[in-house]
Order: sequence, then structure tokens, then C-alpha cells
Amino acid sequence: MATTRVPLISGNWKMNHNHFEAIQTVQKLGYLLKDTLKEAGVIEVTVHPPFTDLRSVQTTLESDNIAIGLGAQNCHPEPKGAFTGEVAAGMLAKLNVSYVIVGHSERRELFGETDEFVNAKVKAVLAAGMTPILCVGETLAEREAGETADKVSGQVAAGLAGISDDKAATVVVAYEPIWAIGTGKVATSEEAQTVCGDHVRATIADRFSIGIAQAVRIQYGGSVKADNIADLLAQPDIDGALVGGASLNADDFAALVQAAVGS
Ligand code: PEP
Repeated sequence: MATTRVPLISGNWKMNHNHFEAIQTVQKLGYLLKDTLKEAGVIEVTVHPPFTDLRSVQTTLESDNIAIGLGAQNCHPEPKGAFTGEVAAGMLAKLNVSYVIVGHSERRELFGETDEFVNAKVKAVLAAGMTPILCVGETLAEREAGETADKVSGQVAAGLAGISDDKAATVVVAYEPIWAIGTGKVATSEEAQTVCGDHVRATIADRFSIGIAQAVRIQYGGSVKADNIADLLAQPDIDGALVGGASLNADDFAALVQAAVGS
């Protein structure tokens, strides 16, 4: 029997929107998407605001009955302790956060996060009952050197190391070629499909099983917009998108979600 994977569109706001702006954005999204989101099992949408906005966005989504999931952009692997400035996975779960982005390339590049640290975060997110969105992807230099397959497969294997089969099946992997993030350069649908299918899903099949690989949702990320989402989702191994710039404005993000549903 073929596995049905509900597409997941996630808006990564990065360090944008204070909590007032966040409330306005999700209220407008709720209004623009109320018909699109009312049918269960068609599409899943999440927003990932900065930590300071999470409580406000949580209460807005819940009080206005907006069918958008709450996500975070990061967490620390330890449950508590002397880690000034950090936030534990359990603290996010208490705010009804359901998805946590882990290992985004900006965190790997700007904050020195290693595969081992990212793997510890994946485990912490799962232990707290949430779903990690594990980000992987190659730089332009790595792509040009023919290293995409090794880099992406290595990050997937390391990020999911030591995870039980039942948990692995619930994970989301976001393939984000670093050269396409925030640059306006999008990988062609065929390029994205090759990596998502031949490297991400195949690595999961190799490390776990074909059944688990078929259950895992794989997002593409990198300059996704309303006008390219349909082509990407038409690929057999692309099950959604991690969206940066085009998720900040409610009109743009709603148009993107609507284009995804229409695809
Ligand atoms: C991202 O940061 O995850 C991302 C994909 O950004 P953008 O959509 O702006 O390229």
C-alpha cells in the first residue's frame, strides 16, 4: 500500500517580527487561509516565530481556532541547567510547540553547530514529544565539487543516528541547498528531487528501512515562493517546503500555501 504523506509547509521567520507583528501576521494568515485549512489531511502549515513571540502566537492560534501548527527555530539539547540564553525542548513543548527546526544551515555556519550537536537536539525534541525538522544541504562549492551526495547523506545519517525506528518514521527532513537560501536562486525541481529521493530518502532506507523512508516527510527549502511551489510538490520525493523570506508576509505565505494546495 502506498504511503500517504500530507504536505507540510513551514514558515521560518528567523529573527523577524516582534510579538505584536507576530500576532497580526498569524491573525491575517488565519483569515486568508480559513477555507484552505478547514479540510483535514490536505495540507499542514506551521509557523516558526522567534522565541519571544511563541506564547503570543500560541494563544492567538488557540483562541482564534486557527489550524496552523506552532513551531520553533531551535532548542538546546539539555533539559535544563547553566546554559545562559538557551531554551530547552521541554520548555517549547509546554507552549504547545509541535515542530522544532534543528540544524538550520545558518546555525551550523554562524553558530558552529556540528552534526553531533544537531543529533543531540533531534533526540531532545523527540524525547519532549515534538517533531524535529532536520535541515541538511550543501554549499555552492560542495555542489560544484560534486560533493552534494556525500554531504547530504552524511548529514542525514549523522542527524538521525541512534534514533529508534518508530521515532525515525515521524521525523521531517528539510533539504536546503545553502546556495539557494535567501538568494532568489531555486534549485530546479529535478535537482531538488534527485537529492530528496536519491540521497535523503535513500539514506533513511539504508539506515532504517524502506517503510520508514517512505513515511518520512522531506521538505525542500531555498527561495520557495507561490510561483515555484507547485513544480516542487509535483516531485515524488518532495513533501513540502521550508520557507524563509516568503513566509514573513501573510499575503505572500497564504498565496504560497494556496498554490501548494492547488498543485
Ligand atoms: C530558510 O531559511 O530555511 C529558507 C529556505 O529561506 P528562503 O526561503 O528565504 O530562501
